Amino acid sequence: MTPRIGILALQGDFAKHLHAFSESDCEAVLVKKPEEVLECQGLVIPGGESTTIGKLCERFGVDEAIMQLHQREAPIWGTCAGMILLAKEIEGSDQWRLGLMDIAVRRNAFGRQVNSFVTDLKIDGIPDGPVRAVFIRAPYVTRVGRGVEVLATLKDKIVMVHQDNLLATAFHPELTDARRIQQYFLNMVQQ
Ligand code: GLN
Repeated sequence: MTPRIGILALQGDFAKHLHAFSESDCEAVLVKKPEEVLECQGLVIPGGESTTIGKLCERFGVDEAIMQLHQREAPIWGTCAGMILLAKEIEGSDQWRLGLMDIAVRRNAFGRQVNSFVTDLKIDGIPDGPVRAVFIRAPYVTRVGRGVEVLATLKDKIVMVHQDNLLATAFHPELTDARRIQQYFLNMVQQ
């Protein structure tokens, strides 16, 4: 069966994610409503502004649909703001979050001068060499719980993690033409 991948389209760069999945073996759709979220076998929470996406999730009842998807163990992948929303702990912030992943994150963690940059990352479980990674006002992970596997670090900062059905990247794989992270996520969905 071709899996349906929902791209949460409340705010942020959801269109780029949709495009990035367009040549993969899945049916990628933009989702905004709880019932649309529940029809998916996997969900992507894009980059954007985590406070805004969080508020809209609550307002439209999408938060409960995502919780249900998680209970079904459907894979959920958060990039950048999406990673922040998946985290249990956001340093120095009480902003709304899903809190599903046992990690702490620091927002805008790479400092002002380097708000955005591109680098090549070696990632555990991703074949064929380093992956080009775009960081835009990115967070990094400052604590991981027991069940969390660290897949990539950048100068000892944790930037990609995996816990059961959850995947989080501090960077934006949808902005480069490498599709290896999308494929990694689709493998999670197909398992
Ligand atoms: N800095 C943003 C936040 O804290 C995340 C940036 C991004 O998603 N590119 O929500």
